[in-house]
Amino acid sequence: MVRKQGARANARPAPCARCGKTVPAGEGIVSFGRDGATVKHPRPQWIGSLISGSWAGGCPTDQVAVADPMAELLGELLRNSQLHRVLWVVASGRNRYDDLILFCDANAVEQAITSALIVEPLDDDLLPPYHLTDAGRNLITRWRREVQARLDTEGFRAVWEAVTAG
Ligand SMILES: [Zn+2]
Repeated sequence: MVRKQGARANARPAPCARCGKTVPAGEGIVSFGRDGATVKHPRPQWIGSLISGSWAGGCPTDQVAVADPMAELLGELLRNSQLHRVLWVVASGRNRYDDLILFCDANAVEQAITSALIVEPLDDDLLPPYHLTDAGRNLITRWRREVQARLDTEGFRAVWEAVTAG
């Protein structure tokens, strides 16, 4: 029998090799070692939007051990702040090529274009200038709502300023 590489789900309920609690059928990850097959809860993952997503998976005992979700969210927001800044700058009407070069990181502008969050003009003198797609508008609208609501929470002020300063 050929054993496939990669993750495989457990066919039957089994105790988790990490936490000892029962993993329901189909919800665990099977791995094969010298002592045979072991089943574990999948590693927790942040799923969904980086702003409104949530943790999924993990051992029941992880739910507290997982790094602070708020810290994780802040990390994601900080990592993406240059991209969010592009959307913010365009949304605020500074949407000519010269504006973007002046206010934004060039790689983030490129990323916003390739991610279909903004559309570039056919030519810099043509209208419309750089503008948000629906996806870009939704993202920056949600970003503003979520971050603005947390400005009193440590760290979010820095995220806000990284995106909106200037
Ligand atoms: Zn477990």
